[in-house]
Amino acid sequence: MALITLRQLLDHAAENSYGVPAFNINNMEQGLAIMEAAKAVDAPVIIQASRGARNYANDIMLAKMIEALAAIYPDIPLCMHQDHGNNEATCMTAIRHGFTSVMMDGSLEGDAKTPASYEYNVDITERVASMAHWVGASVEGELGVLGSLETGEGEAEDGHGAVGKLDHSQLLTDPDQAVDFVKKTQVDALAIACGTSHGAYKFSRKPDGEILAMSVIEAIHKKLPDTHLVMHGSSSVPQELQDIINEFGGAMPQTFGVPVEEIVRGIKMGVRKVNIDTDCRMAMTGQFRRIAEQNKTEFDPRKFLKPAMDAMRDLCRDRFEAFGTAGHASKIKVIPMDDMAKRYADGSLAPKTN
Ligand SMILES: [Zn+2]
Repeated sequence: MALITLRQLLDHAAENSYGVPAFNINNMEQGLAIMEAAKAVDAPVIIQASRGARNYANDIMLAKMIEALAAIYPDIPLCMHQDHGNNEATCMTAIRHGFTSVMMDGSLEGDAKTPASYEYNVDITERVASMAHWVGASVEGELGVLGSLETGEGEAEDGHGAVGKLDHSQLLTDPDQAVDFVKKTQVDALAIACGTSHGAYKFSRKPDGEILAMSVIEAIHKKLPDTHLVMHGSSSVPQELQDIINEFGGAMPQTFGVPVEEIVRGIKMGVRKVNIDTDCRMAMTGQFRRIAEQNKTEFDPRKFLKPAMDAMRDLCRDRFEAFGTAGHASKIKVIPMDDMAKRYADGSLAPKTN
């Protein structure tokens, strides 16, 4: 078993100047695809589950699946992370089911729709961080609301996303407030808002600095050089995956994601965790469509799922290589959560904020 906390993994990533993709899963096939890719290139792994995934798969199924993946791939450090926890209960039940890390997203209220006040965000994130740290689990917080700088709207995904129009002060994380937030909440990683949004329809054109504000990341990193930054909504929505879906009967309108080279630039500016879900979904769905179109007599789900897994595996391997994650799994000696708990308790893991 090599279950690792997010904090230990991102500390290693920072020391060695790489980033780690965090892939979402809902089912066994996605889990196997990620781990096969990681094994092929010796990369440590972050797997995350949203509340939607937990509802879809059932907590016990997910917990046993993670246990199984850790047993099948004992040499790959595996962090299991709650994506977009909306309250204390979501985060605590995740830890109870074996997650080593949780995101407390207090940028939205408990309904996961209404943008929250700064005070609400600090209060709930600080409370979850102190509880999680007692058992050695890591915490990611979020400051700023995810959404498009083009439309001022958040994209709801898995029941999570801001409703209504947002202004730029909400859509872009304020660097000074970020310092205050990390100091008050003691989070291990900070998700920031810089114009990325969830889903496939992120940008209507290849993004430039107007609509993808990498400068915000740079400014936050200058003020918080020791804080691990997290980019959400960072699928690249590759043209070839759009083309496969559309070639075999799909009707996805032309769209643009976050270019891999921008993410690589972000990693040089303190981004350590890069959330990717849409790309994996598209890689799999393209193969479902292809098989359905090319072999109309086929009825064995495995004949659809195997090529879908292979396509997702290849995509994950590409990201491990591009982000510099490859080659690091075997260099990490996993620290048990109980030892992490002691380090939090004695103050040695407190964030450096000056
Ligand atoms: Zn997200």
